[in-house]
Amino acid sequence: MPAPGELTFAVPRGAKKPPRHLADLSPAERREAVAALGEKPFRAKQLSQHYFARFADDPAAWTDIPAAARGRLAEDLLPELMTVVRHASCDDGDTRKTLWKLFDGTLVESVLMRYPDRVTMCISSQAGCGMNCPFCATGQAGLDRNLSTAEIVHQIVAGMRSLRDGEVPGSAGSADAARLSNIVFMGMGEPLANYKRVVGAIRRLTDPEPDGLGLSQRGITVSTVGLVPAMYRFADEGFKCRLAVSLHAPDDELRDTLVPVNTRWKVREVLDAAWHYAEVSGRRISIEYALIRDVNDQAWRADRLGRLLKNHRVHVNLIPLNPTPGSKWTASRPEDERAFVAALEAHGVPVTVRDTRGQEIDGACGQLAAAER
Ligand code: SF4
Repeated sequence: MPAPGELTFAVPRGAKKPPRHLADLSPAERREAVAALGEKPFRAKQLSQHYFARFADDPAAWTDIPAAARGRLAEDLLPELMTVVRHASCDDGDTRKTLWKLFDGTLVESVLMRYPDRVTMCISSQAGCGMNCPFCATGQAGLDRNLSTAEIVHQIVAGMRSLRDGEVPGSAGSADAARLSNIVFMGMGEPLANYKRVVGAIRRLTDPEPDGLGLSQRGITVSTVGLVPAMYRFADEGFKCRLAVSLHAPDDELRDTLVPVNTRWKVREVLDAAWHYAEVSGRRISIEYALIRDVNDQAWRADRLGRLLKNHRVHVNLIPLNPTPGSKWTASRPEDERAFVAALEAHGVPVTVRDTRGQEIDGACGQLAAAER
């Protein structure tokens, strides 16, 4: 039976399947795949070492594998998944957005952001998105297809390789600023609508080297618009990842229009699922709230939000809206933003106004791909 999130949001018919890749497979499946090619199973470990620990997907660099076997292994297990269409940088080089073309011509984006003490990467889990949020560039274009596990993982492998090779020098100088510490599934797509592949990607990202990239689960944030059954299922995985809920409105009437999936699962149900995740994982929930002028930024809505969230393990991220081209909506006035923050704080709810990196390079998800189209 399909996963709850996948049941309703099927991939469009006719979408082609990406080629199989090492990062799609568990360590046991890799050994089987290598054996099926007539190679010794330990070659799976060697390949994993090259890909996950050294980011070396060019067979010429695999000097511990006989030259005669390299081509076959590369073709079968490390096919080229994506190519860079272009990079765009801003914030003095500290933010770099990459537009990728996948094997079938589909476009997706990832963003690498350097801060003085950490590096965060924002990745896509789907090409396009089927959730249809009216203020979002990706939502306007609809869903092309789900990304495979390897297509998700490879965005990060490529980012880690760029950092290692000094391709994203930025202005931040410390050693910590060269190491990827945080991954946010907040690029194109609704991660929980591509449930199995996203969970597979989290395993590859967090399995110790060389089976995976050895990153910390605590550094991973998975966002959702509130696919309630998938949220409960995600809690059962036992991850220590952070869950971010894109709420954008505290009342069903407005949320039904801003986040159309709310007509299916209401604010109360979404928050109950979030509190369950917080309980099981021990992690605070992030509530994402794009502040849109005169739409969802009224003081009474802030008060209502505060009442819903108070006394829970939660943090609110207010996101000044980055308007998409041609959109009728724009960011809140500074005084309304301040009043919103104050109203939440009055309920004892921790809140931050997010630093909106990458605005001058079409920083909102989907804008670079929309411009390319
Ligand atoms: S805001 Fe997120 S969930 Fe909504 S359409 Fe855009 S990418 Fe999809």
